[in-house]
Amino acid sequence: MAVQKTSPFDPASVRKDFPILHRKVHGKPLIYFDNGATTQKPRVVIETMKRIYEKENSSIHRGVHHLSNRMTEAYEEARNTVRKFIGAANSHEIVFTSGTTGSINAVATSFGEKYVGPGDEVLVTVMEHHANLVPWQMLCEKKGAHLRAIPMNDRGELMLDHLDSLFTERTRILSLTHVSNALGTINPVKDIVARAHERNIPVMIDGAQAVQHLTVDVTDLDCDFYVFSGHKIYGPTGIGILYGKEKWLEDLPPYQYGGDMVDQVSMEKTTFNELPLKFEAGTTNYIGAIGLGKALEYLQGFGLEAIAAHENHLVDYATNYLGQVPGVRIYGKARERIAIFSFRMENIHPYDVGMILDKLGIAVRTGTHCAQPVMQHFGIDGTLRASLAMYNTTDEIKRFVSGLRTAISMLT
Ligand code: PMP
Repeated sequence: MAVQKTSPFDPASVRKDFPILHRKVHGKPLIYFDNGATTQKPRVVIETMKRIYEKENSSIHRGVHHLSNRMTEAYEEARNTVRKFIGAANSHEIVFTSGTTGSINAVATSFGEKYVGPGDEVLVTVMEHHANLVPWQMLCEKKGAHLRAIPMNDRGELMLDHLDSLFTERTRILSLTHVSNALGTINPVKDIVARAHERNIPVMIDGAQAVQHLTVDVTDLDCDFYVFSGHKIYGPTGIGILYGKEKWLEDLPPYQYGGDMVDQVSMEKTTFNELPLKFEAGTTNYIGAIGLGKALEYLQGFGLEAIAAHENHLVDYATNYLGQVPGVRIYGKARERIAIFSFRMENIHPYDVGMILDKLGIAVRTGTHCAQPVMQHFGIDGTLRASLAMYNTTDEIKRFVSGLRTAISMLT
Protein backbone atom coordinates (compact mmCIF):
# COMPACT_ATOMS: atom_id res chain seq x y z
CA MET A 1 0.00 0.00 0.00
CA ALA A 2 1.32 3.44 -0.87
CA VAL A 3 1.08 5.46 2.32
CA GLN A 4 1.49 9.20 2.15
CA LYS A 5 2.04 10.39 5.69
CA THR A 6 1.23 14.02 6.23
CA SER A 7 0.81 14.19 10.02
CA PRO A 8 2.69 12.52 12.87
CA PHE A 9 0.46 10.31 15.03
CA ASP A 10 -0.48 11.96 18.29
CA PRO A 11 -3.62 10.55 19.97
CA ALA A 12 -4.34 13.83 21.77
CA SER A 13 -4.47 15.78 18.54
CA VAL A 14 -6.29 12.94 16.71
CA ARG A 15 -9.05 13.22 19.32
CA LYS A 16 -9.60 16.85 18.37
CA ASP A 17 -10.68 15.67 14.91
CA PHE A 18 -13.60 13.64 16.35
CA PRO A 19 -16.33 15.95 17.65
CA ILE A 20 -18.31 13.24 19.47
CA LEU A 21 -15.38 12.35 21.72
CA HIS A 22 -15.83 15.66 23.54
CA ARG A 23 -19.36 15.02 24.73
CA LYS A 24 -20.42 13.74 28.12
CA VAL A 25 -22.63 10.73 28.90
CA HIS A 26 -24.51 10.73 32.22
CA GLY A 27 -22.49 13.81 33.14
CA LYS A 28 -19.14 12.01 32.65
CA PRO A 29 -16.63 12.43 29.80
CA LEU A 30 -17.37 9.75 27.22
CA ILE A 31 -14.98 6.80 27.00
CA TYR A 32 -15.91 5.11 23.76
CA PHE A 33 -14.74 1.48 23.80
CA ASP A 34 -17.32 0.10 21.37
CA ASN A 35 -15.33 0.59 18.20
CA GLY A 36 -15.77 -3.01 17.08
CA ALA A 37 -19.45 -2.22 16.61
CA THR A 38 -18.85 1.10 14.88
CA THR A 39 -16.20 3.80 14.94
CA GLN A 40 -16.72 7.53 15.36
CA LYS A 41 -16.22 9.89 12.42
CA PRO A 42 -13.60 12.58 11.95
CA ARG A 43 -14.77 16.08 11.12
CA VAL A 44 -13.46 15.80 7.55
CA VAL A 45 -15.92 12.98 6.81
CA ILE A 46 -18.86 14.73 8.47
CA GLU A 47 -18.14 18.02 6.74
CA THR A 48 -17.55 16.51 3.32
CA MET A 49 -20.93 14.78 3.42
CA LYS A 50 -22.67 17.88 4.79
CA ARG A 51 -21.13 20.01 2.03
CA ILE A 52 -22.29 17.56 -0.64
CA TYR A 53 -25.87 17.56 0.64
CA GLU A 54 -25.86 21.34 0.87
CA LYS A 55 -24.07 22.22 -2.36
CA GLU A 56 -23.20 19.39 -4.71
CA ASN A 57 -25.72 16.56 -4.54
CA SER A 58 -26.83 14.94 -7.77
CA SER A 59 -27.32 11.33 -8.86
CA ILE A 60 -24.23 9.84 -10.50
CA HIS A 61 -23.60 8.21 -13.89
CA ARG A 62 -26.80 9.25 -15.62
CA GLY A 63 -26.63 13.00 -16.12
CA VAL A 64 -25.06 15.36 -18.61
CA HIS A 65 -25.22 18.28 -16.24
CA HIS A 66 -22.45 19.78 -14.14
CA LEU A 67 -23.52 18.47 -10.74
CA SER A 68 -24.02 14.92 -11.95
CA ASN A 69 -20.64 14.90 -13.66
CA ARG A 70 -18.96 16.34 -10.59
CA MET A 71 -20.54 13.68 -8.33
CA THR A 72 -19.59 10.90 -10.74
CA GLU A 73 -15.98 12.07 -10.70
CA ALA A 74 -15.91 12.24 -6.91
CA TYR A 75 -17.47 8.76 -6.66
CA GLU A 76 -14.90 7.27 -9.03
CA GLU A 77 -12.09 9.10 -7.19
CA ALA A 78 -13.34 7.45 -3.98
CA ARG A 79 -13.21 4.08 -5.70
CA ASN A 80 -9.60 4.74 -6.64
CA THR A 81 -8.80 5.78 -3.07
CA VAL A 82 -10.18 2.44 -1.85
CA ARG A 83 -8.17 0.63 -4.52
CA LYS A 84 -4.94 2.24 -3.32
CA PHE A 85 -5.80 1.73 0.33
CA ILE A 86 -6.08 -2.05 -0.05
CA GLY A 87 -3.46 -2.42 -2.76
CA ALA A 88 -5.79 -3.68 -5.51
CA ALA A 89 -4.51 -3.64 -9.08
CA ASN A 90 -7.61 -2.15 -10.74
CA SER A 91 -10.39 0.22 -9.73
CA HIS A 92 -12.95 -1.98 -11.46
CA GLU A 93 -12.16 -4.68 -8.91
CA ILE A 94 -13.67 -2.45 -6.22
CA VAL A 95 -17.46 -2.73 -5.88
CA PHE A 96 -19.43 -0.44 -3.57
CA THR A 97 -22.00 -2.31 -1.48
CA SER A 98 -24.03 -1.52 1.63
CA GLY A 99 -21.43 -3.01 4.00
CA THR A 100 -19.63 -6.21 4.92
CA THR A 101 -22.93 -8.04 5.28
CA GLY A 102 -24.01 -6.82 1.85
CA SER A 103 -20.69 -7.85 0.30
CA ILE A 104 -20.72 -11.35 1.80
CA ASN A 105 -24.31 -11.92 0.76
CA ALA A 106 -23.38 -10.76 -2.74
CA VAL A 107 -20.59 -13.34 -3.02
CA ALA A 108 -22.60 -16.12 -1.35
CA THR A 109 -25.46 -15.47 -3.79
CA SER A 110 -23.46 -14.94 -6.96
CA PHE A 111 -20.63 -17.44 -6.41
CA GLY A 112 -22.98 -19.86 -4.67
CA GLU A 113 -25.44 -19.77 -7.53
CA LYS A 114 -22.79 -20.64 -10.06
CA TYR A 115 -20.37 -22.91 -8.23
CA VAL A 116 -21.99 -24.60 -5.23
CA GLY A 117 -24.13 -27.68 -5.84
CA PRO A 118 -25.44 -30.76 -4.01
CA GLY A 119 -22.74 -32.54 -2.00
CA ASP A 120 -20.28 -29.63 -2.30
CA GLU A 121 -18.63 -28.07 0.73
CA VAL A 122 -18.19 -24.51 1.92
CA LEU A 123 -15.52 -23.91 4.55
CA VAL A 124 -15.66 -21.20 7.22
CA THR A 125 -14.23 -21.01 10.75
CA VAL A 126 -15.89 -21.28 14.16
CA MET A 127 -14.90 -17.70 14.93
CA GLU A 128 -16.97 -16.06 12.17
CA HIS A 129 -19.33 -13.18 12.77
CA HIS A 130 -22.85 -14.35 11.86
CA ALA A 131 -22.52 -12.22 8.71
CA ASN A 132 -19.93 -14.66 7.39
CA LEU A 133 -21.73 -17.75 8.58
CA VAL A 134 -25.47 -17.48 8.05
CA PRO A 135 -25.36 -16.56 4.31
CA TRP A 136 -23.22 -19.67 3.70
CA GLN A 137 -25.40 -21.84 5.90
CA MET A 138 -28.49 -20.73 3.98
CA LEU A 139 -26.74 -21.32 0.66
CA CYS A 140 -25.75 -24.83 1.74
CA GLU A 141 -29.31 -25.59 2.88
CA LYS A 142 -30.68 -24.38 -0.42
CA LYS A 143 -28.18 -26.27 -2.55
CA GLY A 144 -27.87 -29.46 -0.50
CA ALA A 145 -24.23 -28.60 0.23
CA HIS A 146 -22.34 -28.96 3.54
CA LEU A 147 -20.91 -26.25 5.75
CA ARG A 148 -17.60 -27.16 7.41
CA ALA A 149 -15.70 -25.10 9.97
CA ILE A 150 -12.04 -24.76 10.94
CA PRO A 151 -11.91 -25.21 14.74
CA MET A 152 -10.04 -23.02 17.21
CA ASN A 153 -8.18 -23.64 20.45
CA ASP A 154 -8.85 -22.03 23.83
CA ARG A 155 -6.49 -19.17 23.10
CA GLY A 156 -8.85 -18.26 20.25
CA GLU A 157 -6.42 -19.26 17.51
CA LEU A 158 -7.43 -21.31 14.48
CA MET A 159 -6.23 -24.92 14.56
CA LEU A 160 -4.61 -24.89 11.17
CA ASP A 161 -3.21 -28.42 11.52
CA HIS A 162 -6.75 -29.49 10.65
CA LEU A 163 -6.75 -27.53 7.42
CA ASP A 164 -5.47 -30.22 5.11
CA SER A 165 -8.16 -32.67 6.19
CA LEU A 166 -10.84 -29.99 5.87
CA PHE A 167 -9.87 -29.15 2.29
CA THR A 168 -11.48 -31.81 0.14
CA GLU A 169 -12.24 -32.38 -3.52
CA ARG A 170 -15.67 -30.88 -2.81
CA THR A 171 -14.54 -27.66 -1.12
CA ARG A 172 -15.78 -24.88 -3.35
CA ILE A 173 -14.74 -21.82 -1.31
CA LEU A 174 -13.16 -20.86 2.01
CA SER A 175 -14.54 -17.74 3.64
CA LEU A 176 -12.89 -16.55 6.83
CA THR A 177 -12.41 -13.54 9.00
CA HIS A 178 -9.12 -11.65 9.00
CA VAL A 179 -9.64 -10.53 12.61
CA SER A 180 -12.17 -11.95 15.07
CA ASN A 181 -14.66 -9.36 16.31
CA ALA A 182 -15.32 -11.40 19.45
CA LEU A 183 -11.74 -12.31 20.44
CA GLY A 184 -9.41 -9.91 18.65
CA THR A 185 -7.40 -12.74 17.03
CA ILE A 186 -5.53 -11.86 13.84
CA ASN A 187 -5.62 -14.89 11.55
CA PRO A 188 -2.60 -15.70 9.34
CA VAL A 189 -4.68 -15.16 6.22
CA LYS A 190 -1.80 -14.95 3.77
CA ASP A 191 -0.61 -18.48 4.63
CA ILE A 192 -4.16 -19.79 4.63
CA VAL A 193 -4.81 -18.32 1.17
CA ALA A 194 -1.61 -19.92 -0.14
CA ARG A 195 -2.60 -23.32 1.28
CA ALA A 196 -6.11 -23.07 -0.18
CA HIS A 197 -4.74 -22.03 -3.55
CA GLU A 198 -2.52 -25.13 -3.66
CA ARG A 199 -5.84 -26.98 -3.86
CA ASN A 200 -7.42 -24.42 -6.25
CA ILE A 201 -9.85 -23.30 -3.57
CA PRO A 202 -10.76 -19.60 -3.75
CA VAL A 203 -10.73 -17.57 -0.54
CA MET A 204 -12.87 -14.68 0.66
CA ILE A 205 -11.63 -12.65 3.62
CA ASP A 206 -13.94 -10.73 5.93
CA GLY A 207 -11.87 -7.66 6.74
CA ALA A 208 -14.53 -5.84 8.80
CA GLN A 209 -12.27 -5.78 11.89
CA ALA A 210 -8.94 -5.67 10.09
CA VAL A 211 -8.66 -2.77 7.65
CA GLN A 212 -8.85 -0.11 10.36
CA HIS A 213 -6.00 -1.69 12.34
CA LEU A 214 -3.63 -3.41 9.91
CA THR A 215 -2.03 -2.61 6.59
CA VAL A 216 -3.97 -4.72 4.12
CA ASP A 217 -2.66 -5.43 0.65
CA VAL A 218 -4.99 -7.69 -1.30
CA THR A 219 -2.41 -8.24 -4.03
CA ASP A 220 0.11 -9.50 -1.51
CA LEU A 221 -2.53 -11.62 0.26
CA ASP A 222 -3.58 -12.96 -3.14
CA CYS A 223 -7.13 -13.45 -1.80
CA ASP A 224 -9.96 -13.81 -4.28
CA PHE A 225 -12.39 -11.54 -2.41
CA TYR A 226 -11.89 -9.09 0.45
CA VAL A 227 -14.79 -7.27 2.10
CA PHE A 228 -15.24 -4.54 4.70
CA SER A 229 -17.59 -1.85 6.00
CA GLY A 230 -17.18 1.92 5.86
CA HIS A 231 -18.60 2.59 9.30
CA LYS A 232 -15.97 0.51 11.10
CA ILE A 233 -13.13 2.42 9.47
CA TYR A 234 -14.17 5.95 10.50
CA GLY A 235 -16.43 6.34 7.46
CA PRO A 236 -20.20 6.55 7.11
CA THR A 237 -22.79 3.81 7.62
CA GLY A 238 -24.49 2.10 4.70
CA ILE A 239 -21.40 1.79 2.54
CA GLY A 240 -19.06 -1.16 2.15
CA ILE A 241 -16.54 -2.71 -0.17
CA LEU A 242 -16.39 -5.89 -2.12
CA TYR A 243 -12.98 -6.38 -3.67
CA GLY A 244 -12.90 -9.24 -6.15
CA LYS A 245 -10.19 -10.35 -8.51
CA GLU A 246 -11.06 -9.32 -12.03
CA LYS A 247 -11.30 -12.92 -13.22
CA TRP A 248 -13.99 -13.64 -10.62
CA LEU A 249 -15.97 -10.47 -11.11
CA GLU A 250 -15.98 -11.03 -14.87
CA ASP A 251 -17.03 -14.63 -14.40
CA LEU A 252 -19.75 -14.30 -11.75
CA PRO A 253 -23.36 -13.31 -12.46
CA PRO A 254 -24.84 -10.11 -10.97
CA TYR A 255 -26.64 -10.64 -7.67
CA GLN A 256 -29.07 -7.76 -8.08
CA TYR A 257 -30.74 -6.46 -11.21
CA GLY A 258 -31.96 -2.97 -12.10
CA GLY A 259 -30.77 0.39 -13.36
CA ASP A 260 -27.10 1.23 -13.97
CA MET A 261 -25.93 -2.40 -14.01
CA VAL A 262 -27.28 -2.96 -17.53
CA ASP A 263 -25.94 -2.16 -20.98
CA GLN A 264 -28.75 -2.89 -23.50
CA VAL A 265 -32.30 -3.68 -22.44
CA SER A 266 -35.14 -4.77 -24.70
CA MET A 267 -38.34 -6.62 -23.87
CA GLU A 268 -36.61 -9.81 -24.99
CA LYS A 269 -33.11 -9.53 -23.58
CA THR A 270 -30.74 -7.61 -21.32
CA THR A 271 -26.98 -7.31 -21.49
CA PHE A 272 -24.96 -6.19 -18.48
CA ASN A 273 -22.73 -3.21 -17.92
CA GLU A 274 -18.98 -3.61 -17.58
CA LEU A 275 -17.19 -3.94 -14.23
CA PRO A 276 -17.69 -2.76 -11.60
CA LEU A 277 -21.11 -1.37 -12.52
CA LYS A 278 -22.42 -4.87 -13.27
CA PHE A 279 -22.50 -5.29 -9.47
CA GLU A 280 -23.87 -1.85 -8.60
CA ALA A 281 -27.57 -1.99 -9.41
CA GLY A 282 -29.72 1.06 -8.65
CA THR A 283 -28.76 4.37 -7.10
CA THR A 284 -25.81 3.55 -4.91
CA ASN A 285 -24.86 5.27 -1.68
CA TYR A 286 -22.54 7.59 -3.61
CA ILE A 287 -22.30 10.17 -0.84
CA GLY A 288 -21.37 7.39 1.57
CA ALA A 289 -18.72 6.21 -0.88
CA ILE A 290 -17.22 9.70 -1.08
CA GLY A 291 -17.32 9.94 2.73
CA LEU A 292 -15.51 6.61 2.96
CA GLY A 293 -12.86 7.87 0.53
CA LYS A 294 -12.29 10.86 2.85
CA ALA A 295 -11.98 8.58 5.88
CA LEU A 296 -9.32 6.49 4.12
CA GLU A 297 -7.39 9.59 3.05
CA TYR A 298 -7.54 10.77 6.65
CA LEU A 299 -5.99 7.48 7.85
CA GLN A 300 -3.36 7.57 5.12
CA GLY A 301 -2.35 10.96 6.46
CA PHE A 302 -0.94 9.15 9.53
CA GLY A 303 -0.07 5.84 7.91
CA LEU A 304 -1.52 2.55 9.11
CA GLU A 305 1.84 1.55 10.64
CA ALA A 306 1.75 4.53 13.00
CA ILE A 307 -1.84 3.78 13.96
CA ALA A 308 -0.98 0.10 14.53
CA ALA A 309 2.01 1.05 16.70
CA HIS A 310 -0.23 3.18 18.92
CA GLU A 311 -2.91 0.48 19.11
CA ASN A 312 -0.33 -2.22 19.92
CA HIS A 313 0.79 -0.09 22.82
CA LEU A 314 -2.87 0.04 23.97
CA VAL A 315 -3.08 -3.79 23.72
CA ASP A 316 -0.07 -4.24 26.02
CA TYR A 317 -1.26 -1.60 28.42
CA ALA A 318 -4.84 -2.93 28.64
CA THR A 319 -3.72 -6.57 28.92
CA ASN A 320 -1.52 -5.65 31.84
CA TYR A 321 -4.11 -3.47 33.61
CA LEU A 322 -7.04 -5.83 33.07
CA GLY A 323 -4.94 -8.75 34.28
CA GLN A 324 -4.58 -7.00 37.64
CA VAL A 325 -8.34 -6.88 38.29
CA PRO A 326 -9.35 -9.80 40.51
CA GLY A 327 -11.75 -12.30 38.95
CA VAL A 328 -11.37 -11.09 35.35
CA ARG A 329 -11.10 -13.78 32.70
CA ILE A 330 -10.15 -12.70 29.22
CA TYR A 331 -11.46 -14.82 26.34
CA GLY A 332 -9.13 -14.80 23.39
CA LYS A 333 -5.41 -14.73 24.12
CA ALA A 334 -4.04 -15.10 20.64
CA ARG A 335 -0.39 -14.20 20.17
CA GLU A 336 -1.35 -11.99 17.22
CA ARG A 337 -4.19 -9.73 18.23
CA ILE A 338 -5.76 -6.32 18.01
CA ALA A 339 -7.16 -4.18 20.82
CA ILE A 340 -10.40 -6.09 21.32
CA PHE A 341 -10.88 -7.51 24.82
CA SER A 342 -13.66 -9.97 25.57
CA PHE A 343 -13.92 -10.83 29.22
CA ARG A 344 -16.12 -11.85 32.11
CA MET A 345 -15.82 -11.27 35.82
CA GLU A 346 -16.30 -14.10 38.24
CA ASN A 347 -19.90 -14.53 39.46
CA ILE A 348 -21.07 -11.32 37.80
CA HIS A 349 -23.14 -11.13 34.64
CA PRO A 350 -21.57 -9.03 31.84
CA TYR A 351 -24.79 -7.10 31.39
CA ASP A 352 -24.73 -5.80 34.98
CA VAL A 353 -21.15 -4.60 34.61
CA GLY A 354 -22.00 -2.97 31.27
CA MET A 355 -24.86 -1.04 32.91
CA ILE A 356 -22.61 0.30 35.66
CA LEU A 357 -19.88 1.26 33.20
CA ASP A 358 -22.49 3.11 31.16
CA LYS A 359 -23.41 5.20 34.20
CA LEU A 360 -19.72 6.13 34.39
CA GLY A 361 -19.77 7.30 30.75
CA ILE A 362 -17.96 4.19 29.49
CA ALA A 363 -19.42 2.54 26.39
CA VAL A 364 -18.65 -1.18 26.04
CA ARG A 365 -20.69 -3.94 24.43
CA THR A 366 -22.19 -6.93 26.21
CA GLY A 367 -23.60 -10.10 24.67
CA THR A 368 -22.54 -12.59 22.04
CA HIS A 369 -21.20 -10.04 19.54
CA CYS A 370 -22.99 -11.81 16.66
CA ALA A 371 -20.63 -14.74 17.14
CA GLN A 372 -22.67 -17.31 19.03
CA PRO A 373 -20.48 -20.29 18.01
CA VAL A 374 -17.55 -18.53 19.72
CA MET A 375 -19.57 -18.32 22.94
CA GLN A 376 -20.59 -21.98 22.50
CA HIS A 377 -16.92 -22.92 22.20
CA PHE A 378 -16.25 -21.42 25.62
CA GLY A 379 -19.58 -22.56 27.12
CA ILE A 380 -20.67 -19.03 28.06
CA ASP A 381 -23.68 -16.88 27.26
CA GLY A 382 -21.73 -13.75 26.41
CA THR A 383 -18.92 -11.41 27.35
CA LEU A 384 -18.16 -7.78 27.95
CA ARG A 385 -16.22 -6.45 25.01
CA ALA A 386 -13.98 -3.42 25.07
CA SER A 387 -12.83 -2.62 21.54
CA LEU A 388 -10.36 0.20 21.10
CA ALA A 389 -9.48 2.47 18.22
CA MET A 390 -6.86 4.97 17.11
CA TYR A 391 -8.24 7.77 19.28
CA ASN A 392 -8.26 5.82 22.55
CA THR A 393 -5.64 6.48 25.20
CA THR A 394 -3.90 4.81 28.12
CA ASP A 395 -5.61 7.30 30.41
CA GLU A 396 -9.00 6.02 29.23
CA ILE A 397 -7.86 2.44 29.92
CA LYS A 398 -6.98 3.45 33.49
CA ARG A 399 -10.41 5.03 33.98
CA PHE A 400 -12.11 1.99 32.44
CA VAL A 401 -10.28 -0.38 34.80
CA SER A 402 -11.13 1.80 37.76
CA GLY A 403 -14.78 1.63 36.54
CA LEU A 404 -14.55 -2.16 36.57
CA ARG A 405 -13.30 -2.11 40.13
CA THR A 406 -16.26 0.10 41.08
CA ALA A 407 -18.62 -2.37 39.38
CA ILE A 408 -17.08 -5.28 41.28
CA SER A 409 -17.46 -3.51 44.60
CA MET A 410 -21.10 -2.70 43.85
CA LEU A 411 -22.03 -6.15 42.59
CA THR A 412 -20.28 -8.45 45.04
N1 PMP B 1 -17.80 -9.35 10.06
C1 PMP B 1 -17.21 -8.95 11.19
C2 PMP B 1 -15.93 -9.60 11.62
C3 PMP B 1 -17.80 -7.94 11.94
O1 PMP B 1 -17.21 -7.54 13.07
C4 PMP B 1 -19.00 -7.34 11.50
C5 PMP B 1 -19.67 -6.24 12.29
N2 PMP B 1 -19.69 -6.40 13.66
C6 PMP B 1 -19.55 -7.78 10.31
C7 PMP B 1 -18.93 -8.80 9.61
C8 PMP B 1 -20.80 -7.17 9.75
O2 PMP B 1 -20.55 -5.85 9.38
P1 PMP B 1 -21.73 -4.88 8.95
O3 PMP B 1 -22.73 -4.95 10.05
O4 PMP B 1 -21.08 -3.55 8.85
O5 PMP B 1 -22.26 -5.37 7.66
